[in-house]
Amino acid sequence: MTADLLIVGSGFFGLTIADRCARELDLKVQVIDRRDHIGGNAYSEIDPETGIEVHRYGAHLFHTSNKRVWDYVNQFTDFTPYVHHVYTTYKDEVFPMPINLGTINQFQRAAYTPEEARAWVVEQAAMLEGEPTNLEEKAISLIGQPLYEAFIKGYTAKQWQTDPRELAAEIISRLPVRYTYDNRYFSDTYEGLPVDGYTAWLEKMADHPNITVTLDTDFFDESQPWNKADVVGQIPVVFTGPIDRYFDFKHGDLSWRTLDFESEVLPIGDFQGTPVMNYADESIDYTRIHEFRHFHPERDYPDDKTIIMREFSRFAEHTDEPYYPVNTPQDRERLLSYRELAKDEANVLFGGRLGTYQYLDMHMAIGAALSMYDNKLAPHFTNGLPLDGPGLVDDG
Ligand code: FAD
Ligand code: UDP
Repeated sequence: MTADLLIVGSGFFGLTIADRCARELDLKVQVIDRRDHIGGNAYSEIDPETGIEVHRYGAHLFHTSNKRVWDYVNQFTDFTPYVHHVYTTYKDEVFPMPINLGTINQFQRAAYTPEEARAWVVEQAAMLEGEPTNLEEKAISLIGQPLYEAFIKGYTAKQWQTDPRELAAEIISRLPVRYTYDNRYFSDTYEGLPVDGYTAWLEKMADHPNITVTLDTDFFDESQPWNKADVVGQIPVVFTGPIDRYFDFKHGDLSWRTLDFESEVLPIGDFQGTPVMNYADESIDYTRIHEFRHFHPERDYPDDKTIIMREFSRFAEHTDEPYYPVNTPQDRERLLSYRELAKDEANVLFGGRLGTYQYLDMHMAIGAALSMYDNKLAPHFTNGLPLDGPGLVDDG
C-alpha cells in the first residue's frame, strides 16, 4: 500500500477529508470513485451546444449559516451573489415558493396582513390534534389543509411515491413558511454559486501532490487494487458509498429515491424566466424544470438558445444512483442494524449522504467531514488514538 488513507467517493465529504488529511497532516491520500468524474452529485459540466454550465445531477445551490464551513469553502472558490428563488405552477397558475404572504394572498385572492394570514392558516389546521409526527401532519400544522393540498401533496406524491404519513416531518421542515413577502428559498446567512463552476472548485480541493484520485474504480471490484477485501484492515478507510451496499444488504435494502433527468436544448433565449419551476399538480409527471442559464446572469451566455432539464423521481434499484433516503420507519430500523455493524468494522469510518443515510446538503456534508477530521482522523494520525475508540463523537 502506498497510501496512509483510502477514501471511497470523491464527493464533497470525501474531498474535504482528503484535503484536511493531505494539507494539514501531510498524509498520502488515495481517493477512488466509481464514476468517470470527481465531485459526486455536485459535479457540473459545460453543455457543448450552448456553453451553459449544467449540474449533471440536478441543480445545486450552495447556502450555509455555518461560518466555519463558509470560511473553509472560500479557500477554494469565490462565490457569486446569486440568491435562489423558486416558483411553482399549480393548475396553470404560477405562485412563489416557499409559501409566503405573496403565495397565500394570491391563493386566496386576498390582501391579508401577516396577522390575518396567520389566523387563516391556524383555522385551516384546526383539525390536527397533538404534535405532528410525520410529513403530512407537519405540513398541515405549518400551512393548513388547502395550501398543503395545492402545493405539497401532489409534488410530494411525485417526489416520494410514499404515503406522506410514513415520511419524516424533517423533509418538509427544510422549507421555510414566511408571513412576509420575502420569497428567498433559503434563510441562510451565506449563499452563492461558485464563480468558475462546481467542478473547478472540486478539482481545486483535490489539487495537492499528496492526493491521488483514481476514477472508474469501484471499491467492491476485486480486480482493482483498492478493493474492500484487500484494503480493509491494512489502512484506514473513509467510506462514502451506500452503507447497506458495504454490508452486502445483510439487513435488507435501505430505500432510496433516484432521479431521471431529461435535457433539451431550445432555440430561444429564455424558456421560463427563472432557474427552477416546480410543478405541483400530480397529473404532470415531472417535479420541476431547471433552466441553467439563470443561475449565472453575470455570464455571457448566448441569447438564441437555452438548455432546460426536466426532473423525474422514482424508487432506486440496485443499479441506479441512490439520491434521496426515503427513511420510512422500516428504513430507520434497518439503519440502526447497519450502524451496529459499522461500529464493529475496525478502521472504517462511514460518512456523507450515502454512508450515513441522511438527507445532507453540501454544507452539511462538508461540516460533518470537518468534524470527522477533528474528532477521529486527526487524533488518530497525530496521537495514535483508535479510530473507533470511546470518547470520540459520532459525526452522523
Ligand atoms: P456524493 O456527492 O453522493 O458522493 C459520493 C461518491 O461516492 C459518488 O461520487 C459515488 O460515485 C462514490 N461511490 C459510491 N459508491 C462507491 C463505490 N462502491 N466505489 C467507489 N466510489 C463510490 N445540496 C445543497 O447544498 N444544495 C442543493 O441545492 C442540493 N441539491 C441537490 C439536488 C439533488 C438532485 C441531489 C441528489 C442532491 C442535492 N444536494 C444539494 C446534496 C448534495 O449533492 C450532497 O450534499 C453532496 O453531494 C454530498 O456529498 P457526499 O460526498 O456525501 O456524496
Ligand atoms: N416540496 C413540495 N412542494 C414544493 C417543494 C417542495 O411539496 O414545491 C416538499 C417535497 O416533499 C420535497 C420537500 O418539500 O421533497 C423538500 O423540498 P426541497 O426543495 O428542499 O427538496 P430538494 O431540493 O432537496 O429536492
